[in-house]
This record gives sequence, C-alpha cells and structure tokens, in this order.
Amino acid sequence: MALGSRAGLYLHVPFCQKKCAYCSFYSFVPQPDDIRRYIEAVRLQMQQLAQDPDVRNLSFSTIFFGGGTPSNLPVEVLAQLLDDCRTLFTFTGEVPEISIEVNPGTIDAAGLQQLRRAGFNRLSIGVQSLDDRELRQLGRIHTSGEALATIVAARSAGFDNLSFDLMYGLPGQTAHSWQETLERALTIAPEHLSMYELTVEEGTPFFKKARQGQMNLPAEDAVLDMMVAIDTAIGRSPLARYEISNYAVAGRQCRHNLNYWNNGRYLGIGPGAVSAFGGKRRAAVADLSAYCGRLATGMDIWQEVEQLDSETRFRETVIMGLRLLAGVSIRELRRRFGIDLPTYYNTTLDPLLDQQLVTIRAGRLALTPKGLPLANQVMALLV
Ligand code: SF4
Repeated sequence: MALGSRAGLYLHVPFCQKKCAYCSFYSFVPQPDDIRRYIEAVRLQMQQLAQDPDVRNLSFSTIFFGGGTPSNLPVEVLAQLLDDCRTLFTFTGEVPEISIEVNPGTIDAAGLQQLRRAGFNRLSIGVQSLDDRELRQLGRIHTSGEALATIVAARSAGFDNLSFDLMYGLPGQTAHSWQETLERALTIAPEHLSMYELTVEEGTPFFKKARQGQMNLPAEDAVLDMMVAIDTAIGRSPLARYEISNYAVAGRQCRHNLNYWNNGRYLGIGPGAVSAFGGKRRAAVADLSAYCGRLATGMDIWQEVEQLDSETRFRETVIMGLRLLAGVSIRELRRRFGIDLPTYYNTTLDPLLDQQLVTIRAGRLALTPKGLPLANQVMALLV
C-alpha cells in the first residue's frame, strides 16, 4: 500500500493537579468523573477519525501527548491510549518519535518505567525553573529537587531523549538566578531545551496581579541580560539553537514540532485540540462537557473550521518557517504552492533584506542574528 502524506498526531490531556498562576492553556483540575468521561470520548473521537478518508490518507511519524499534564492520567491509561493510536492509524516505516509531557510531582520512577515500556521514547519535562522561590511564585506544584529527581528517574527508566521547559523573565528573577537555573539544567545534559520568556496572559492570576501593580517583573535590561546568558551558556554546550525558543543536540530536534513549523499536516485529538488536514484547519470544542456530549450524540465536535486556500497556506508556511534558524526553502514553497517568494513579497522584502533583518542564502529565506530578536515585527510585515 502506498504511504499517504506524512503527519503528526497530537493528544491533548486537559488535566492539571493545580492551575499555575501564569497559565492560559485549556487545562483544569478534574472533577471525580472527568477522567473517565474524557477517556471514553477521546477513544470515540479516535475511532471516528480513523474512518475519515482524509485521515486514512495520512501516515504518522510522530505522536505527542501534551496538555495540561498528561502524567496526571494513570500510566495504564496513557499506555492504552498510545496503543489505540498505534492500532487505529497508519504509521510511516521509520521509528516514530513518541513524546509525552510530564510534570515533576505527578509521576514516580515506576511510572516513568511503565511509560518507557509502553513505547514513549521522548519526555518533555516541565522544569520551568530550578529556583524554589521562583517555582512557588509561578504556582508550580513541585520543587527544584523534585524536578531533578524526575530527571534522574527518567534516565534510569531508559529515556535517552529528554527535553526541559524553562522560563525566564519571571517575577523576582534576576539575571543571576536565571543563569544559575540555566547552568544547572545544562549540567544534566538534556538533549533538548525549550526556553520561553514569560508572557502575562489575559485571564490569568498573573494578569490580575500585573494590573494591580503587584508583579515584580524584571526590567527590560535584565531580560536582555537573560537572553545574552542563554547565548553564552548554549555556546559552551553541545546544544544548538534551531528555532526561536528551542535548542537541541544534533539529531534531537523535536520532530513533532518541526512538522508544525514546516506547516505540515497534523491530527489533534481531545478537547481544544487543533487539526490541519484535507485542506482545512479545525479546532475541537475546548470544553470537556461539550466535547463529550457532542461525541456521544454524534454531533460535530469542531468549534472552528477554516478552509485553507493555497495562498493562505503559503503565507503561513513562510511565517512558521521563519521561526526556524534554517528558514524556509524558496524552491520548496514554489513546489508546494506554485508561488515564488521573492516575486510575491517584492517591495516588502527589499527593506528587510537591506536592513539585514532577513537573508536569502542557499535558496532559503531566514532571519539573521539581528532579525531574530525582532522576529515578531518582521513576521507582522509578511503575514
Ligand atoms: S502544569 Fe502546565 S498546563 Fe497545567 S496549569 Fe501549569 S502551565 Fe498550565
């Protein structure tokens, strides 16, 4: 049988043990019956999607269980859901990258071993900071010691592909405390790091505090120092930056996320999860009760459906691709969408090239080191 188009498979687990003070993701503390209802509903959604001719035309090479906190679900359930994914959908011949997000304090050594045995081969650990005071401010449920213990247990369980999430620009954080977190994290030799500056999102407790002037956020200069500290520390490590906020050792870039940045096809399962296949982007309703109810009664679960024409997809592919340090291939864009990038952007592109914010090298458009910190402004002109 011929293989269909390559794609990534995402499962959204919307449960957390406690809501962090900065979080605007669709996640919540489950009520007693929520987990059972969720499992029934996602299994139903998977079965339905597996019958969809457009989905049957996809061949998956990555699976990502994200959230929320997937490790909030019992490990046997995670193993069963992974098994369902592998049984119901078609995979490419290569070894799939199978990632799961875990948070320290939600899984023990035995649980990590079970995950490894179930087939997960990449862990993304929500470390965020290795400073206990900062972790408390963020409303995280764990200490730095628990994060380190999770990492040690993950290695013992046989995970040789670990990623840590870290955050900077935190309330009360200094360039010095950030540097300490960063150095300690690098000492543990992760294969991958994701580092994001804190953004204060509307609707979060942090937003309320910021409006009341009670957030002791570091000054812009201090945040710039933190960014410089990243460059310095990464420069001395075996990791290399490959996306605006992501760093990896050779060969360990996140394949699942690379598919998003290359604007590939993906299937999202679970409430609030987004899918892009068959020329459409669809978002499932981000409400557990509505999601379960609609699935049980055979109603459409999509809250939003967007028909994507070729030009829209071209522009999206350029914007997403600029997040990658390698940029986007002009030839590949022409092949996929029949549009020539330099001709299309014409007068918009010249000033960006003149100011050396972007460059065209070896047939690829990419941000320059000068353009990277101004990525949002550059993208706003090309969107
Ligand atoms: S653990 Fe992650 S998803 Fe859950 S509340 Fe905290 S930041 Fe949000």
